Amino acid sequence: ALTIGIVGLPNVGKSTLFNALTKNNILAANYPFATIEPNIGVVNLPDERLNRLAEIFGSERILPATVSFVDIAGIVRGASEGEGLGNQFLANIREAHAIAQVVRAFDDPDVIHVDGKVDPASDMETINTELVLADLQTLENAIPRLEKAVKIKKGDAAQLEEYKKAQTVLEAGDTLISKKDEAKLDFALLRELNLLTTKPFIYVFNSDEGVLASEEKQKELRDLVAPAEAVFLDAKLEADMVELDEEEAREMLEMSGQDESGLDKLARVGFSTLGLQTYLTAGPKESRAWTISKGDTAPQAAGVIHTDFERGFIKAEVVSFEDLDAAGSMQEAKAKGKVRMEGKDYIMADGDVVEFRFNV
Ligand code: GDP
Repeated sequence: ALTIGIVGLPNVGKSTLFNALTKNNILAANYPFATIEPNIGVVNLPDERLNRLAEIFGSERILPATVSFVDIAGIVRGASEGEGLGNQFLANIREAHAIAQVVRAFDDPDVIHVDGKVDPASDMETINTELVLADLQTLENAIPRLEKAVKIKKGDAAQLEEYKKAQTVLEAGDTLISKKDEAKLDFALLRELNLLTTKPFIYVFNSDEGVLASEEKQKELRDLVAPAEAVFLDAKLEADMVELDEEEAREMLEMSGQDESGLDKLARVGFSTLGLQTYLTAGPKESRAWTISKGDTAPQAAGVIHTDFERGFIKAEVVSFEDLDAAGSMQEAKAKGKVRMEGKDYIMADGDVVEFRFNV
């Protein structure tokens, strides 16, 4: 499964957020190296459509798609040179498919800031610089090796060219993803290096009431990170809310002036940042969301349920959720001509409700 690595300076609220994500009670200590071992937290992707499907089909249970987060130990200035938990950090982050950077945007005199003041722009700069330096190191090792290989005609010259292009971007202090289009970087040629700054980024601003209530403050921070996605949440509030029942949690959310919980926002944004989408299946047993990549074909989608479904794929009976919702039942959707038979070249759309026909 694809995972999102949670990174950030010490004391910005990573453990607090992660506790909320897992509903566990890992102690969030006010201490720079409180989070040492990487942990995985799996959260549900909120999807109202499943409730409606369960109603239409009388399903016994609902199975939403999930998003996985890995808590990666705190990064500090100098991490790329092996300071603090640097090496462990880099090994763990390399395995993540996207990076969620938690940035402190809350005031609290009781919580020490590693650099002495709350300054989101400077914090992001610190983390991104470490990631850029780590990638530079990787390239500085890889380039001489590839140069030798190219000389004896055993290496790919185009790949070497790409490595050098990437090096130039990093030397200017930029992440590779932020200059992908501008520098015309071909990530396919860089793939085997697993460079950190080629991964998609999400910025999670751990905000206080002041930031949550101010469109203006949020816009300022959004502008700092665009085109990367920004999520605003209050980690402490999220951690408190998971301890409450649904009703109480909703009230608490309303009082904070938000219309969606931070965890739901994070799951949603994380899911799409990973390039994922869902299709749906429904019946009396369960209504379920299945995770596929954007652009997957019908047989590939069938393969997520079972590899035999992909191999023996014949066709897919497909209706869009919207059409099914409007029709109110499968029979009615069929009567209205909204149910299509799709073949093996069909590209799945988000929210397709599907039944596969296959040979076993
Ligand atoms: P980490 O080092 O990034 O994992 O940070 P922690 O999650 O351990 O948080 C450090 C300290 O900040 C703890 O004392 C938390 O209770 C506190 N904290 C975390 N999130 C918030 C928040 O949104 N608001 C306030 N006021 N304190 C927070």
